[in-house]
Amino acid sequence: MSGIDSLPPLRDVIAQHGLSARKSLGQNFLLDLNLTARIARIAGDLSDTDVLEVGPGPGGLTRGLLAEGARKVLAVEKDSRCLPALAEIAEAYPGRLEVIEADALEIDPAEHLRPPYAICANLPYNVGTELLVRWLTPREWPPKWRSLTLMFQQEVAERIVAQPGGKAYGRLAVLAQWRCDARIALRLPPGAFSPPPKVSSAVVHLTALDAPRYPADPQVLQRVVATAFNQRRKMLRAALKGLAPDIEDRLRAVGIPPTERAEQVSIEAFCALARTFE
Ligand code: SAM
Repeated sequence: MSGIDSLPPLRDVIAQHGLSARKSLGQNFLLDLNLTARIARIAGDLSDTDVLEVGPGPGGLTRGLLAEGARKVLAVEKDSRCLPALAEIAEAYPGRLEVIEADALEIDPAEHLRPPYAICANLPYNVGTELLVRWLTPREWPPKWRSLTLMFQQEVAERIVAQPGGKAYGRLAVLAQWRCDARIALRLPPGAFSPPPKVSSAVVHLTALDAPRYPADPQVLQRVVATAFNQRRKMLRAALKGLAPDIEDRLRAVGIPPTERAEQVSIEAFCALARTFE
């Protein structure tokens, strides 16, 4: 037997290797291999694509990615207790799984993968958001990755895909949607995980556009958007006062009423405002 058929059920793997879930590492494992295959399929056809998986844990999603045909998976895991279980998967899929014991915030996957690669992860909330922001703000665009398939708390997922006009709309929505298509692909109740987290989760799928939707200097846009949402309840003329003394004129020049609040402003209008600083 080779591949997924030769591997024991994940519950047995966890028991055999003593992988009791650690809260400090945000460990909520997916044990249903039908579900992990479904998540892998959200990433699209992987047969000619390398995949970066962050936080493989006991390897449920890793198995899903390999069984669905990923050309190669690079799995980056911080918890050394998971390495023997991941080594068993590597043995079942010769030459297709490379495992690195590291903090995902500290490695450069581009040294190990052929771009454009796919990124897939079920990560703790804080690490996931920090990595997402990094992946969305590389020096060059298009980035080295072609798609991101990421599990988040549902509330964070809603913020990534939010449209202007509501509380969920903010910096994450602008960063994500300016240069990507972003959608919620799957919603999961707490019971899908072991142990169950307190809140529901959702898988967000982002695909990188070849070019930004509207022109703007990335650094300027990020500064404008961060400043606007930092004081999201203030009118823009007050929230953005620190950026330029003539901010009211600039807002008017691009058609944004200075009395509006950040959450009303479209990505297109933020880009137009950013261009007044270039
Ligand atoms: N992917 C597995 C699954 O779906 O069952 C595990 C998911 S669990 C929510 C998060 C995993 O990320 C854990 O295995 C944890 O050890 C790992 N992890 C947490 N912080 C990490 C970091 N900074 N770098 C790499 N892995 C990390």
